[in-house]
Amino acid sequence: AKATGKARYEVFNTTMHTRAAALLQLETDLRRGLERREFQLYYQPIVSLKTSAITGFEALIRWQHPQRGLVSPAEFIPVAEETGLIVPIGWWVLREACRQLSAWKIQFPEYQSLVMSINLSAKQFTQTNLVEEITEILRETDVPAKSLKLEITESVIMDNAEIATTMLFQLQSLGIQLSIDDFGTGYSSLAYLYRFPTHTLKIDRSFINKIDIDSEQFEIVRTIVTLAANLGMDVVAEGVETLKHLAQLKALNCGSGQGYLFSKPVDSQMAAKLLQEQNIV
Ligand code: C2E
Ligand code: CA
Ligand code: CA
Ligand code: CA
Repeated sequence: AKATGKARYEVFNTTMHTRAAALLQLETDLRRGLERREFQLYYQPIVSLKTSAITGFEALIRWQHPQRGLVSPAEFIPVAEETGLIVPIGWWVLREACRQLSAWKIQFPEYQSLVMSINLSAKQFTQTNLVEEITEILRETDVPAKSLKLEITESVIMDNAEIATTMLFQLQSLGIQLSIDDFGTGYSSLAYLYRFPTHTLKIDRSFINKIDIDSEQFEIVRTIVTLAANLGMDVVAEGVETLKHLAQLKALNCGSGQGYLFSKPVDSQMAAKLLQEQNIV
């Protein structure tokens, strides 16, 4: 029994060591990736379910690693947060997405109301210069504040309730919009919802994927859509993959949608093509 215990301990130890080494390697690679411009933004359209028009895009980061190929943000964002590298990466994302939006508004004068949604992580949210930095990026890229939407999850607010309140109101007073991402998966009290200057609820895709066959999902989405309407907020359904999903969401009067049915996240050239064609579903 003793031998087994020891063996198990060694395995555990080895695993820990391997994980630590892998994390360290990833951190080094992330740092180098930022210097060598290995990151790229993809853009996924957000579509009005009433008019089918593209009203904006969500910017989603991609990492083209020289050896490993395309690395998913689900893999490296958590490490970037753990190591603090999310801060410089996050500034790069903001600047790049705003620069792109500005270019599109020149290229497509009919799209002046296009909105760029950007994901903000908890670590970025605790940066004391967040508001100044965003102000500077907007000025530099000539993007009006109302064209920028910041997506944060419920836990980002909950974990930093005090700072969050101050920051969110400062951002709101600039005219920037705020979206609660993955809504329904966190643990926020509903009271927080109206205490913060929230413009949009993004319904997590786990509530959408069976909306056409699961009556409980349908009722949950109905409740969120009604809640948003009653609080004067917009609502975006994530993960709209099928025409059946779309039909149910339309029946519920859900304002906007995002998902593979309309388009996967695409590079900037392809996104420009989508704007040009504008015949999404
Ligand atoms: P998220 O913010 O919830 O982004 C939506 C994710 O759902 C994206 O995954 C998108 O590709 C995927 N998606 C969109 N439509 C569909 C659909 O119809 N079906 C399915 N199954 N999936 C769909 P992605 O791009 O891999 O990003 C994963 C997560 O990584 C994001 O989740 C976000 O939390 C994080 N992330 C991505 N880019 C950034 C960034 O620039 N900064 C930060 N802080 N986080 C980011
Ligand atoms: Ca998001
Ligand atoms: Ca989301
Ligand atoms: Ca998500």
